Parts: sequence; structure tokens; C-alpha cells
Amino acid sequence: MGEDLRQSQKMEAVGQLTGGIAHDFNNLLTGIVGSLDLMQTRMRQGRTENLQRYIETAMASANRAAALTHRLLAFARRQPLDPKPTDVNALIGGMSDLLRRTTSEAIELRVLSEPALWPTLCDPHQLENAILNLVINARDAMPNGGVLTIATTNGRHEAKDPDLRNLGLTSEYVCISVSDTGTGMPPEVVARAFDPFFTTKPLGQGTGLGLSMIYGFARQSEGQAHIESVVGRGTTVTIRLPRNAASHVEVAPATEIGELPRG
Ligand code: ADP
Repeated sequence: MGEDLRQSQKMEAVGQLTGGIAHDFNNLLTGIVGSLDLMQTRMRQGRTENLQRYIETAMASANRAAALTHRLLAFARRQPLDPKPTDVNALIGGMSDLLRRTTSEAIELRVLSEPALWPTLCDPHQLENAILNLVINARDAMPNGGVLTIATTNGRHEAKDPDLRNLGLTSEYVCISVSDTGTGMPPEVVARAFDPFFTTKPLGQGTGLGLSMIYGFARQSEGQAHIESVVGRGTTVTIRLPRNAASHVEVAPATEIGELPRG
């Protein structure tokens, strides 16, 4: 509880400090201006051989800068959540094209869906964003390929105290996990991974906002986010979201629905 409070307070404080990222943005701009400058000099000298390369470098930096401001704005704006009863399996199914395009051919994408998954109560757009961020992180952790598994399950947490149990204090939730067989994270990275702006990625490639946004989304949805990771073996990030209490269905064991076909 104390840890959650500490994390929430940090998120609050950092929400007002998002301008700090201007430093990264400025470095990207410096790269763009540098490329344009070189192009100008070469053109004046009538040397046109590497112009295409300078254009590509400038474009890549401009695209990274645009992605950075986009994510920064989404983080700063912190749109109010719009929770709805959500069928998470259908939501993941609807993302299959996007997910295939996001990962490389060397990555085997698997979806293990709990067939009788409970509906959950969450903002579906934020959940899509969260899953996409997790898939991007998993992809980045497997530069030489591997297996990326998205799994859904139903979960139940019973109060240990029998009196509380008799009072019906049992929480039911839907788990969405994204696992990879990638680099894994040492414990000191796991400890900081949910911190806003914490990144181990090279400049322009990581904002350090993905996992902190996921943490914020899970907590605001009255759920949880959790990381398990072993260096050299891989990582699983699990989001737990509350069951939508209005609709109850029977639980069946999880089965594999197979690998997503590549387009
Ligand atoms: P970013 O991806 O922009 O760096 P995140 O908040 O999503 O920001 O992640 C923070 C850091 O956590 C990453 O830079 C990386 O070091 C680590 N990380 C996140 N996901 C994974 C993963 N699946 N495998 C290994 N490391 C990861």
C-alpha cells in the first residue's frame, strides 16, 4: 500500500514536470539541423552523392521527435478514463493486424485466450495502448527474435481471514499478460521500470513513459500491474483489471488458440 502511494505521488509530481523531456527533444532537433546543415554545405559544393542519406537521417529524427511529443502529450493530458464493460479477448483479436505489423518476422506471436474470460471494466482505448506498449517493449527485448505470448486468464483473490471470506470479500479480476523470451531485466531495472522517464534505451528510442502509463492506467482502473523478469530468460508483465460484476459466466481452463497468422 505504501509503495502504491509513493508511486502515485511520484506520478503526480512528474505529471507537472513533463517539460523535462525537452532535453531529449532538443537533442533530436540538433540531429535534424546537423543533417540539414551538411546537406546545404554539400549542395553548395555540388557534391550530391550522400544527400539521400542525410535526408533519411533528418526524417528519422523528426519522426522520433514527433512520436516523443505525441506520447508526452498523451501523458500530460491524462485524459479521464472512460471505463466500459470490455471483452479483452475481442479487443486483442481486433489488434492482431497492428501487432503483426509491430513485431518482426523473427518473432513468433502467440495468443493464449481464456475461452470463458470474464468481461472487465476498463477504458478499452487505454487498454489497447497498454498492450501495444507491452508488445513494443517485448519486441525491443528480442532483437534476435523469440516468442511473444499474450495471455488472458480469470483470477480470484480470496481474503485469508475466514470471517472476511464469509463476508464475501473476494476479488475477481481479469489478467492480461505479455511475455517475451528476451533479455530480461536485472532487479535494479525491475525496481525502477514503472518510474516515469526511466529508460535504458538509446536516446530517441525510449521515453520511459510506457510502463509508467500502464501502471497509472491499471491503478486508476482499480487494478494492478506487475513485472516478473529473469535476465537472459525473459519478462512477463501482467495487468490485472477488475471483473465487471454485472455479468457472471462460468470459468473454463485456458486453452491455446494458436499462433496469429502473419499477413
Ligand atoms: P521505454 O520502453 O520508452 O524505455 P518503458 O517505461 O516502457 O519505457 O520501459 C522502461 C524500461 O524498462 C525500458 O527502457 C527497459 O529497460 C525496461 N523494459 C521494459 N519492458 C521490458 C522487457 N519486456 N524486457 C526487458 N526490459 C524491459
